[in-house]
Amino acid sequence: MFLGYCDECEDRFLLPANHVVAVHNLESGVIAVELTCYEGHHILVLSGKDIDIPGPATV
Ligand SMILES: [Zn+2]
Repeated sequence: MFLGYCDECEDRFLLPANHVVAVHNLESGVIAVELTCYEGHHILVLSGKDIDIPGPATV
């Protein structure tokens, strides 16, 4: 599950792995996960050991 905030819905969602559009490995261990919310809006979540955001715990 991934925790993502949707600007358009103005709400946070726990999204299952099948809402993942793409995963990008950025510099220095940061992972950018592209998701869609339940309304189909696009969400970008940054995760990784250097990011102090609740990241994907399990997939
Ligand atoms: Zn949304």
